[in-house]
Amino acid sequence: MHREIAISERNNGVYITRNGRKLLSFSCNDYFGLSQHPRTIEASIKATQIYGTGSGASRLITGSNPLYDRLERKLAEIKGTEDACVFGSGYLANIGTITALLGTGDLIVADKLCHACIIDGAGLSKATMLRFKHNDIGSLRRLLEKNRKNYKNCLIITETIFSMDGDFSPVDEIVALAQEFDCWTMTDDAHGLGITTPNNKIDIQMGTLSKGAGSYGGYICGTKEILDYIRNKARALIYSTALPPATIAAASEALDVMTEEPERVGKPVELCSHFAGLLGEEATGSTIFPLIIGKEEDALSISKKLNEAGYLVSAIRPPTVPPNTSRLRFTFSYLHKKEQVEELAGILKGMIL
Ligand SMILES: *Cc1c(COP(=O)(O)O)cnc(C)c1O
Repeated sequence: MHREIAISERNNGVYITRNGRKLLSFSCNDYFGLSQHPRTIEASIKATQIYGTGSGASRLITGSNPLYDRLERKLAEIKGTEDACVFGSGYLANIGTITALLGTGDLIVADKLCHACIIDGAGLSKATMLRFKHNDIGSLRRLLEKNRKNYKNCLIITETIFSMDGDFSPVDEIVALAQEFDCWTMTDDAHGLGITTPNNKIDIQMGTLSKGAGSYGGYICGTKEILDYIRNKARALIYSTALPPATIAAASEALDVMTEEPERVGKPVELCSHFAGLLGEEATGSTIFPLIIGKEEDALSISKKLNEAGYLVSAIRPPTVPPNTSRLRFTFSYLHKKEQVEELAGILKGMIL
């Protein structure tokens, strides 16, 4: 299937102008409206004025300006770990970390619904990769019982909140299995920042600054020992230019705002639950609600009708999701109003019931 990139002018958090039409978006991952907050904007302008627009080199050469230090300390504090390291993006953090830790003769066991960049990292690492059934601890245990002994190191990877389903993984049970089978664990918290509970029993807590934090960049948190090793081995960190100062400053400021204004985090989760309830569906507990439609053309057709009604809701299709699970993926923001959510639910019910 051929995809095209649509120019999308996002100048007020929840509204997007596309092809001259203003649409109310339920498709952005800027959950807490932090890409538009006066304080994050101000911080990025100030950083540019002080340090310029670019970082000049990779982090291991001269690109690691003082803003990185502040951001990494804050991330380690939030996640309850000794250390943190910021990469160029979440994608780079995943491929850099996975390839640094594992190689030929090692094993990666990942949830069936893990994000493409985890799969890409596993592929690049040359380790063997096996997938367990989504959120199914029994399936994970069976894979480990059968295969763990044949490999040297083993890493279990899952997401905290799944990007296309909005559901949570059983992290504690996974950590217990990892201890039993002598494996490392890594969680991808891209959609969980501020929502999930940090857990420093996980060896590597990975995440991104491009979604809830409204900026850009990926990160990993863990012990000093693991982080030191990864800083020395991760090619995606070593051979790529450091982030622009404005981006790092905005991310730091966003994390401060999240701490100071907890209602920013609570509201989109509540809106999401409210929306699910209006459709007679169970809430996910996250900011993501998937309405599974099934056929690709049906999901596309509803997305198109919603667009005509003034809403931007993406139809997510294979290969992003498994065959016959094409869906509408709704994401909620602090900047949405309750009435807007209720109106959308009403219109959608008229289309699908
Ligand atoms: C978006 C996403 C990433 C990639 O993060 P970027 O910072 O956008 O590169 C990684 N993992 C998951 C689960 C994601 O949803």
